[in-house]
Amino acid sequence: MKKTNSQHIPYQEHYRGRFAPSPSGELHFGSLLAAMASYADARHHQGDWLVRIDDIDSARVVAGSDKHILSTLEACGFQWDEGIDYQSQHIERYQHALDLLQQNHQCYPCTCSRKQLKIQGYTGIYPGLCRANDWATMKHNNYAIRLKVSNKQMGFTDRIQQEHQQILSQDVGDFIIYRRDQVFSYQLSMVVDDFYSGITHVVRGYDLVDSTIKQMYLQQLLGYPTPIYAHIPLAISPQALKLSKLSQAKKITCDLKTLVQAAQFLGQKILIDTDFENKNDFWQYLIRHWDINTVPRMEKQMVLY
Ligand code: GLU
Ligand code: ZN
Repeated sequence: MKKTNSQHIPYQEHYRGRFAPSPSGELHFGSLLAAMASYADARHHQGDWLVRIDDIDSARVVAGSDKHILSTLEACGFQWDEGIDYQSQHIERYQHALDLLQQNHQCYPCTCSRKQLKIQGYTGIYPGLCRANDWATMKHNNYAIRLKVSNKQMGFTDRIQQEHQQILSQDVGDFIIYRRDQVFSYQLSMVVDDFYSGITHVVRGYDLVDSTIKQMYLQQLLGYPTPIYAHIPLAISPQALKLSKLSQAKKITCDLKTLVQAAQFLGQKILIDTDFENKNDFWQYLIRHWDINTVPRMEKQMVLY
């Protein structure tokens, strides 16, 4: 039985959202925004909110940053449901999904190196040179695994942004789902974990908007339902650098002022911090009044602090 909420989103199931930081540094303002938007949206719809540490790419993991992220979230006043999930503990389920794609002939081993491709003049999307490779003749593990993508137009309606359309074969090409260095790709691991956690709604940064159709295609091949997506604008500094862990964004202090600033960035009508006696007050107000329709429909937005 479908339920409808005040924003007229059909919910086939109980709302389950998540925040999935990569532990490559401490929590910065950009990730606070993704955490806040996903949390407020979930709680506003009486949903569950889970936290998953995306630590699949061990080379990028900064030791201890998961603990920093979690303690900062806690200090900010976030309250998550269930235990913290770690991608590094889910290798078996990724392998299972990969096996299924392989059995269904939806992926293939690719031995091309970037250098080889460049020499051959292929600098754009991967031209599918290895599509005919036979698994049986692969003697070594020195290959990546690519997904055979479709030439059909696919699209989705974002709850915040414009409608997105892509033809994967023209716009993306056969993309890697298992890397040559033996790591499952983000696209595959995210899709598998969101499915296992029963995620119905994904609220995340605009930098991931281009991953969405790839993920939707994987969901279709694996027989998973597709969640409902919303992409919030990226916070950029006046120097127009994306506020990310990579650009060494300033780590945040979780005081009321920062929370209010984040809520304002997200277009929520919260005027002055003195309205709130404490963080608890702030969260109650934000969750009650949260309106995703007032989040700016922009790819990025300036933040001053
Ligand atoms: N771990 C990803 C990141 O930090 C986010 C994954 C997602 O929200 O889908 O960029
Ligand atoms: Zn190849």
